[in-house]
Amino acid sequence: MKINATLINLYIVCPRQCWLHANGINMEHTSDIVYDGKLFHESSYPQRAQKYQEVELSAQWKGVSLTGKVDFYDRKDKIIHEIKRGNKIEEAHEWQLKFYIWLFELNGIEEVVGKVEYPKLRLTTDVYLSDMERKLLGEMIPQIQQTIADENCPPVIESKICKRCSYFEFCYSGEV
Ligand code: SF4
Repeated sequence: MKINATLINLYIVCPRQCWLHANGINMEHTSDIVYDGKLFHESSYPQRAQKYQEVELSAQWKGVSLTGKVDFYDRKDKIIHEIKRGNKIEEAHEWQLKFYIWLFELNGIEEVVGKVEYPKLRLTTDVYLSDMERKLLGEMIPQIQQTIADENCPPVIESKICKRCSYFEFCYSGEV
């Protein structure tokens, strides 16, 4: 299975969420949220699509296929722009961009940086990839592969984030 930014993002939030998504268990309203997020992207910055490029990236890394789709890339200044609709800064958002930066590097394009924009918070965070984080990504890829290949779903994490997860009812209904 190809490892993409969504799996990285989900794995950092919750390995169980990553497993469920990778194994094709998606909640009805998850896709609504994704669609909603896409609309938010388009309506927040309608001029973006003209100014920046959409870039599809892929790389083979130690026998693993890695892929990523960057919606807004500023080729001139080597900046990835990512917009998040929520009103909370999340570590997983930054890792999504760190993964993209790594993918650019694996394609021979160095010194790319990221910007995560939170319009609701009127805030932008800059994202860089350090040597340590590059190493961590390298360690995370086999862990994700192992997690999603496991026939057993990882346990519920019993975290406060569960309440706003689309799998909440599924996880806490005692079915899996
Ligand atoms: S409800 Fe909690 S345990 Fe279940 S997938 Fe979501 S974050 Fe993970």
